[in-house]
Amino acid sequence: MTLIDELPIEGRKTLMRVDFNCPLKDGRVADDSRIRAALPTIQHALDRGTSLILVSHLGRPKGQPNEALSLAPVGERLAELLDKEVLLTDQPIGETATRLSKELRDGQIVLLENIRFHPGETKNDEHLSRHLAALADCYINDAFGTAHRAHSSTAGVAQHIRDKAAGFLIAKEVKALERVLDSHRLGFVAVLGGAKVSDKIAVIENLLARVERILIGGAMAYTFLAAQGHKIGASRIEEEHLPTAKRIMELAAQRGVHIGLPVDHVAATEFSSDASRRVIESPDIPPELMGLDIGPKTAAAYASVLQSARTVFWNGPMGVFEFPQFARGTQVVADAVAECPGWTVVGGGDSVRAVVEGGFSDEIDHISTGGGASLEFMEGRELPGLRALGIRREE
Ligand code: AMP
Repeated sequence: MTLIDELPIEGRKTLMRVDFNCPLKDGRVADDSRIRAALPTIQHALDRGTSLILVSHLGRPKGQPNEALSLAPVGERLAELLDKEVLLTDQPIGETATRLSKELRDGQIVLLENIRFHPGETKNDEHLSRHLAALADCYINDAFGTAHRAHSSTAGVAQHIRDKAAGFLIAKEVKALERVLDSHRLGFVAVLGGAKVSDKIAVIENLLARVERILIGGAMAYTFLAAQGHKIGASRIEEEHLPTAKRIMELAAQRGVHIGLPVDHVAATEFSSDASRRVIESPDIPPELMGLDIGPKTAAAYASVLQSARTVFWNGPMGVFEFPQFARGTQVVADAVAECPGWTVVGGGDSVRAVVEGGFSDEIDHISTGGGASLEFMEGRELPGLRALGIRREE
């Protein structure tokens, strides 16, 4: 992998893909962690006297201009953080973008308006890719969060610029996730939760050859429990994936991988923020109730496994973490991952939130900035944004 510090960018124009897909509130950036995550690469480029053309998406404008998804608030926040002027174009490409890029002097920054306002971006449109490439001499990608998408600004553009490299964030993510995949099987524990089994099948399949244990929580646990013949009441289930869950458990047994499933639950009669919680002290759930969190025994058992793990990869909450009465299981797991002395990596929106809100960020070795991208990496797939930079995984 070529890193930005190996590329001759001095006095040249650099097109840099960043992930500024930040949550907004009342026209301002509500959480600037994604902007901050890109700062080391941006600062490095500025220190070396390059001029920067930054490209990012924000939300899902579906190929059309949408004022509510303008990058203007992001540009303002970036300008504050860098204490430097950040110019913003009116459209992602067009007359202003071309002119501003041309006039840009060393050390100046222009932020292109939300690249997904252009319908070609998500189609990896050749015309758009060439247009973006024509704006600059070098290309840096530091947007790990979109590295699993083959879009114009993440993949296509790289074909039209010879001098390209990864930014520090992408390099850090790749190193951390590779370390997980290359871990010794003994002591390697994956914790998987969240809503759907279907999202995690490929990850589980790839991890079965590598891990000692997979601890399962969240709604996906009910499909596995049902496949084992347990009663799951009114819990969320993916009927069509019962055979998949069965197959995964058979494969795990053949490979000697232990699959941990909930032995107790926190349940309620309805999925609502004011539903009252009931602890069910068995793997089976009565017909009128739905499981909305792992129970205290399960949480303690998972925490105990995590205590002595050598490598941990965690993606997905253990329950309906958004409702405080069903957040306990996720919090216990977050605490246990933080306490674990091994190499710990957390990816995915809700699990990252649990770690951050619990105040455990400093105790985790790597918090991924890309939920989807880190999952696809764990699936063993080549991510298009990384492939475009010549980053390949050697097995
Ligand atoms: P994911 O996007 O796959 O990581 O799933 C996260 C979502 O799964 C969160 O919004 C949770 O509320 C939801 N979830 C977790 N556990 C359950 C459960 N037992 N029943 C229903 N939804 C759940």
